[in-house]
Amino acid sequence: MSGNSPNKPTHDSHWPIVIALIAGVSMGMILQKLAHPASGATPHWIQTVMEICRFGSDLFLRGLKMVIVPLVIASIISGIAGLKSLDGFARMGLKTWAYYILGSLVAVCVGLFMVNTIKPGLGSDGKPNPTLAAAMNAAKTSQNAQEVGNVMKKAEGGASSLLDIVRRAIPTNIIQACAEGDLLAIIVVSILFAVAMVLIPTGPPIVLRDFFNQLTDVMTLITTWVMKFTPLAVVCLVIPAIAGVGVGVLQNLVPYVLTVVGALLLHTLVILPIVLKLAGVSPAQHFKNMSDSLLMSFSTASSSATIPVTMRCIMEESKVSERVASFVIPLGATVNMNGTALYECVVVVFAAQVLGIDLSVTQQFLVVLLALVSSIGVAGIPAASLVAVIIIMQNAGFSEDAIKASLGLILTIDRPLDMARTTVNVFGDTVGAVVIAKSEGEKLAC
Ligand code: ASP
Repeated sequence: MSGNSPNKPTHDSHWPIVIALIAGVSMGMILQKLAHPASGATPHWIQTVMEICRFGSDLFLRGLKMVIVPLVIASIISGIAGLKSLDGFARMGLKTWAYYILGSLVAVCVGLFMVNTIKPGLGSDGKPNPTLAAAMNAAKTSQNAQEVGNVMKKAEGGASSLLDIVRRAIPTNIIQACAEGDLLAIIVVSILFAVAMVLIPTGPPIVLRDFFNQLTDVMTLITTWVMKFTPLAVVCLVIPAIAGVGVGVLQNLVPYVLTVVGALLLHTLVILPIVLKLAGVSPAQHFKNMSDSLLMSFSTASSSATIPVTMRCIMEESKVSERVASFVIPLGATVNMNGTALYECVVVVFAAQVLGIDLSVTQQFLVVLLALVSSIGVAGIPAASLVAVIIIMQNAGFSEDAIKASLGLILTIDRPLDMARTTVNVFGDTVGAVVIAKSEGEKLAC
């Protein structure tokens, strides 16, 4: 953070979170079994436990969201406004975008490779898996129907093209953008503001600069207070996520889950560590430094809610400068989503396999392109990519009925997969931050 940061490195702080995660997953699995008894009705006490968990996690997420907007604005402005010239900043911006686009493209290709190799939607005879096809049909009318309808409605008003994303980045009303937590617009306005501060003919406005420096420190301190509740919040977040996983079709979805998880692991444990190695960063040390941020992204399934923690880890554990971190991390949480891009690609091809839709090479190329572009526009919040999945399916020629059936099926297992892909999204941002910091000649602790 600027000047004298109020925080000290907390290398071993992740153990309580790990324990909370294990406890949450175990309790969630037990409750998942108890919540679906043969009689069909979920016991009242389980509903009460869920309510308490949702209340606890809501309080925590609200606390994190409360700091995001002022933290992002203050850290971007103080990171840029302290520069003597903007030459280096433009170079860093170009490098960052090149990294985001290449990283997401590789992730989509990893997803495409895995889903075409494992073919989770086909049976051993190479034909659409009949059990999955039946499950898809049933899912349309099951308890998911309302949720499917909600996602479909969101897709109607969702960003559908790169032009929409660019348009949204320029807000007509800054206050409204802040009130709605529209991060892309907030980042663009903050950068413009900071650049104007550097270029102002009367010289850098010292009072403004000091204000944003100090605001960064204050917001960071508040973040550390909120973070003290992390272990408790993790238990509250994870129990409903695991207990809410649909039963019945789970067995049939194992190949699909393995494909998604396998592709995410391949990207996280092979591709990104190679990038780190090439940049002269120790992958093991980087994982260790980022552990709090990765655990948080896994528990919250939200890249945006994780921004304050990721900023802390990247600056305090890895010693990346505020100039790089304040630009790469918030922007990455909004536009760089490796896990989401990969997931979108796997879901669409998997659904096509189950439905017997033969995607031509051109259509698969379209899926790759749309997954890449839509991952830029997807918000860093839970389940946000489902809207993008609908848009890709529409463009790839799926009928409305086919889209509803596919969504009904994937929703049964979406939350745990969301937790996994969000972790990869955030990890991709942190790799970008250290790689760019290294290329800028910074001395890092990894
Ligand atoms: N939950 C993801 C994130 O926040 C977005 C998604 O894939 O739904 O990064």
